[in-house]
Amino acid sequence: MMKATIKDLDLKGKTVLVRADFNVPLEDGKITNDKRITAALPTIKYIINAGGKVVLFSHLGRVKTEEDLETLSLLPVGNRLSEKLDQDVYFVNTTKGEELESAIEDLKNREVLLVENTRFEDLDGKKESKNDEALGKYWASLGDVFVNDAFGTAHRSHASNVGISEHLPAVSGFLIEKEIDFLGEAVLNPKRPLVAILGGAKVSDKITVIESLLEKADKILIGGGMANTFLRAQGYDTGKSLVEEDKLDLAKSLLEKGKDKLVLPVDVVAAKEFSNDSEHAVRDASEIEADEMALDVGPKTVELFEEVLKDAKTVVWNGPMGVFEMSNFAQGTIKVCESLAKLEDAITIIGGGDSATAAEQLGFEEDFTHISTGGGASLEFLEGKELPGIKALNDK
Ligand code: ADP
Ligand code: MG
Repeated sequence: MMKATIKDLDLKGKTVLVRADFNVPLEDGKITNDKRITAALPTIKYIINAGGKVVLFSHLGRVKTEEDLETLSLLPVGNRLSEKLDQDVYFVNTTKGEELESAIEDLKNREVLLVENTRFEDLDGKKESKNDEALGKYWASLGDVFVNDAFGTAHRSHASNVGISEHLPAVSGFLIEKEIDFLGEAVLNPKRPLVAILGGAKVSDKITVIESLLEKADKILIGGGMANTFLRAQGYDTGKSLVEEDKLDLAKSLLEKGKDKLVLPVDVVAAKEFSNDSEHAVRDASEIEADEMALDVGPKTVELFEEVLKDAKTVVWNGPMGVFEMSNFAQGTIKVCESLAKLEDAITIIGGGDSATAAEQLGFEEDFTHISTGGGASLEFLEGKELPGIKALNDK
């Protein structure tokens, strides 16, 4: 899957439309984490240095009501980006029309302009999110070439990624290129052993990932809420734990197919309530009581996982090992992070929104080779699906 990249284009004097992922978390109009802005800088700087004019598009949140037009403006992103680039970023508070068109026309080489939240178009019949043909064509008419660098939305077919791509020379930016390199290499051409760690809330969210990784990985460690469905499928009582009854047969067949490739928890941290204040105790997987729920993997499981991980050369991790948001149930996730941090000669990759948050919040951000910027997109990539935002780009 060789896609053309920004390096394949001559950008001098060109109006370069860039789809970035500036979908940053906001609290009271303030950006609480600007990692995504930082992640977009290499592509933006490259265009500036090559003498192009940069026109940036991004969505921010979900736009459903008139009030969202107030709270979901990209203006704070424009300001933060301007600080990081140390140059002006012109912000146009609309997604189409004369004001936007003349601002782009007035743009000089090496200048940067940010267009308002592309999802403002969703108030009018979901034009952005439903990839309205005319909208993609209109946005494409504003520039000479298109660079898609929004990995986080690459699994969606929207006007601002797929739509624009259809009408202009379209290539990937550095961030998308990096994501494809790391995730692609890890599942298609890994240094072995390849160990996958799967967790998170539900089996049903991850069926295709498990199936796809069963074929590719040497071992799959299963933790988190989804482990309970497997434990139940093995015949254990799991009390009040999160179990998907309708997925028991599927879990059984995955267990048969995977055999000793699948490694399940042998003990858990069980609590009476879904609360950090709840009474809790370590129990063997076979001894969860009727009024308890498993909210984390236990210490013996951690040892078992460590034993497998110590020889790994590639590790792909999707889904926390427990309810890491509550400190009493975060140990499993912390310990797995620690064993990954210890690996000296392995490629360690996190693909998954909450897993990435967990690694960052628990202080392990620097210990991974790559933390994907796209939760849903990386999940679909690991499932082996072709992402529409990437598919729409020109081949090399
Ligand atoms: P990701 O975004 O990394 O793909 P998921 O969205 O699948 O991960 O799952 C993350 C959520 O799973 C977290 O909010 C975490 O609290 C929850 N979770 C983990 N283990 C359990 C468990 N044993 N019971 C209930 N919820 C759990
Ligand atoms: Mg999630």
